[in-house]
Amino acid sequence: MDYRKKFLVEPGAKVRLAKIDPSYTGKHQTHKTAEIEIRKHIERMDKLQYRLYANADQSLLIVLQALDAAGKDGVIRHIFTGMNPQGTSVFGFKEPTKIELAHDFLWRAHLPAPEKGEVAIYNRSYYEDVLVVRVHKLVPRSVWSKHYDFINNFEKLLKLNGTRVLKFYLHISPEEQLSRFKQRLDDKSRHWKISERDYSEREFWPKYIEAYEDALALTSTKRAPWYIIPANHKWFRDLAVSQIIADTMDEMGLKLPPTHVDIAEIRRKYHSAKIAQQKDRKR
Ligand code: AMP
Ligand code: MG
Repeated sequence: MDYRKKFLVEPGAKVRLAKIDPSYTGKHQTHKTAEIEIRKHIERMDKLQYRLYANADQSLLIVLQALDAAGKDGVIRHIFTGMNPQGTSVFGFKEPTKIELAHDFLWRAHLPAPEKGEVAIYNRSYYEDVLVVRVHKLVPRSVWSKHYDFINNFEKLLKLNGTRVLKFYLHISPEEQLSRFKQRLDDKSRHWKISERDYSEREFWPKYIEAYEDALALTSTKRAPWYIIPANHKWFRDLAVSQIIADTMDEMGLKLPPTHVDIAEIRRKYHSAKIAQQKDRKR
């Protein structure tokens, strides 16, 4: 199954999240049967990242958006295990600081964008400025409603500069969210993850869905597509996201760069160094 086709938000299409089953698992019934595939995709990502880094002429930006407890942290922990930390970065978008608020909303999003050769993961992103900002009316509609165009243009600029942008919305049900909140309560080692806001935000669920539907519809483009990932099952979420990332990287035409040195000459240098070392040892 090609999840890039299945979960793509068609550019220009209307989005109705209620029509998408967050418990979807396709042909797989259990984690066990999906595990081999997940591992295979993670290995492909690793191999391709090595080439991306070696070439340093393109980059990849992965945006993760979701409601609380939908698994943004889990995706990062499970899927990027194979990638070399040298050449990857994760940037979490929290409530803006005073200095961030004193700038335009894209200011803080631009600096952590990936350098050529790198992969950057945004855990939440500049999309919060059409999500939480809209839901809680942190700025007037006349302001946030203009953000979609700025976002599209920002992503156009990234693309022109060689950055592939991939965006994932992790789709869970309110029931699954509550059950994950319960797991957090039952597990002391996860208490640090609990926030009062988790519960107050639940009341805004329909408003968030509305905001997500608009964001997904208005900003899914060929150059920076959105994927809606059924995420009630953590393993299926990992399977779909890892396949989409690996397939996209496959398409980036990543090859190992040619060498800039004369290998035969370097080989000769190596042999003389080896002989010199052996002579040294004998002394
Ligand atoms: P977490 O992802 O659990 O660490 O929480 C980060 C919090 O920061 C979430 O409640 C977000 O909604 C909030 N946040 C992120 N970006 C913004 C923003 N631009 N304005 C207001 N709140 C934000
Ligand atoms: Mg949270």
